[in-house]
Order: sequence, then structure tokens, then C-alpha cells
Amino acid sequence: MKVILSDVHEAHVAPFEIVGGREKPAVEHPGRATAIRDALKKIGGHSFQAPEHHGDAPVLAVHDPALLHHLEDAWRAWDEVGNVGPAMPDTFAMSGLMERAIEPPATIEGRLGYFCFDMGTPILEGTYAAVRESADIALTGAREVLHGEQYAYALCRPPGHHVATSIYGGYSYLNNSSIAARFMQRGTGSKVALLDVDYHHGNGTQEIFWNDPNVLAVSLHGDPDFEYPYFTGRVEETGGDRAPGSNLNIPLPKGTTGERFLVEVERGLDAATGFGAEMIVVPFGADTASEDPLGTFELHAEQYRSIGGMLRATGAQVLVVQEGGYDVTATATAVTELLAGISPVS
Ligand SMILES: [Zn+2]
Repeated sequence: MKVILSDVHEAHVAPFEIVGGREKPAVEHPGRATAIRDALKKIGGHSFQAPEHHGDAPVLAVHDPALLHHLEDAWRAWDEVGNVGPAMPDTFAMSGLMERAIEPPATIEGRLGYFCFDMGTPILEGTYAAVRESADIALTGAREVLHGEQYAYALCRPPGHHVATSIYGGYSYLNNSSIAARFMQRGTGSKVALLDVDYHHGNGTQEIFWNDPNVLAVSLHGDPDFEYPYFTGRVEETGGDRAPGSNLNIPLPKGTTGERFLVEVERGLDAATGFGAEMIVVPFGADTASEDPLGTFELHAEQYRSIGGMLRATGAQVLVVQEGGYDVTATATAVTELLAGISPVS
């Protein structure tokens, strides 16, 4: 399979994250992507290529220009006023404190709370380059599929599925898989489905395609009654007035087994087939693995291979885009198994 990857992400290293009121080592770190790369190279059967730069247009087909400008300028502005450490918000633009209709604040501190919704998504000197490269990795994978590749894998880091049109968080800065899906939909004019099998709800993807009747967004995830991002991901969220039925949420309980997860993947794929999608984008997180430090699900290697086989059986073109997965070894195994299931190497 064609694997799109780059080392530029290594410049983005969060020194810590705030979880449960404590400063902890960041679980989203470069070792995740290098472990996946090394495992794929070791196993063989894949071809590796660097991303091509696609410019601003496909990014702005998904995101607010003000968000992109903020991401590009935040480190400079943060550094200029003498802050040290990562650029992250400490005051959030909640309704009641402001109306979303106002312009972004003049101060960098205000802008961080205006655009960023959590304390796990810092901006550092190398962040913007990594973020743009990650989007270009997804776009290059999308282009390969548009050019006729049956399958491609975009080894994106940082991840992206928590980023909505104008706000970011969840270790994510630009929504790589949504940028790719819109690029593919516009490139062919045919319908595209996203099957998000990261452990967390793809809240950003849901918001981006809420009123788009040409893109189906399916997400399997830990139920927001107990899991991040807490405010989205319920069954009742089925799409906006202009695209009713274009969003399918499948919230799952703590301890969901691999067998149950596969049943729900089948449901999601049935929805994609029924929608008429000939291309499927898979935001893939290995934080569903039993070893994962964030997730509560119980998936093992054989289930990732089964998911790959189910994707293959649809006959659709498939672009897999890397999202989460925080046990490095389990994540590398999950990716190699998934890709082996999609495209068995003889
Ligand atoms: Zn996740």
C-alpha cells in the first residue's frame, strides 16, 4: 500500500499536558509516528512517499481563515510578549463571557481561549510546520486515491478529528481527514463517507459536515456520558436541516469488546454503502486497543485485521488517516494489522 509520511512532525513536542488537575507527560509525542513508520518498514510490502504541498485552498475549503492565521501566528505573538513555555489558553471563550460573533481578541492570550477548547493542545515553535505537513500528508493520500489508487495510508501527526471549522483541541490543530474527504468529494463529485474508528468522538468532523449532504460522517466512540470530548457524540445528532441523516454516531460503553466493536463497524459500513459512497476515509485511532492508556475498549490485533478485511469487502477506495493511539507498541501493531487486512501482502 502507498504510505505517505514525513519527519517534519518531530519538531512538534508538547512538554506536558494538564489532566485531572495535574501536569503530566504528553501522551501525544513523536515516538507514536516513528514507531508506526518503523513497524511498516520492517513488515515490508508498502511503498513510502513524502507529501506534496497543496497550498491553502484545500485547507480553507474546511477551515475558517482566521483559525489558520491564528495557528500560523500564535507562536510568534506568544514569544513577542515574553511568554515562556507552550502557547496554550487559560481563559476560555464560553458563551456568557462573550458572543461568538465578535472578532478574535487583540491579545494572544485572548486568541488562544477563543480558538482552542482545551489544555491538551499547545502551540510550540515547530507546531505550525508539523500541522501543515500533517494536512499535506492527508491531502497527498487523497490525491493518490483520486488518481486511482485503491488504498492509501496517511501517517498523520498531529492528529485532526477534533478540529471543527473554527476551533481546535484534542491534540489536533487542522482536521486532516476532513480536509482529505472534502478534497476527494470535490475532486470526483461523488459521495464520500468517513468511518471514524478512533476511540474518541470525531466532534470536529461532525461539525464540519453537519450540513453537507454529499459527505456521510460515521463515528464509533466512547459514550460522551463518560468520555472526552463530553459535549458531542450522541445518537440524536444526525445532521443539520440541509443534510438530515448525514451524521451517524455510535456511542459505546466502557469496556466495549472487540467482537462488539466489529458488529458496530459493520453497521457503519452498511450506512456508508447505503449512502452510495464509493470512497471511504477512515480516521483511525488505535486508542481503542486494550493496552491504551486513555481508552477503555478491549480491541486486540486480530480485530484490527478484521476491520481491514471489512473495509476491503466494501469494494470502495479507502484512505486511512492516522488519528490517536497512545500505547506506542499497540498503535504500531494496530496499524500494521489494519493495513494487512485491507490489502493482504502475498
Ligand atoms: Zn482518540
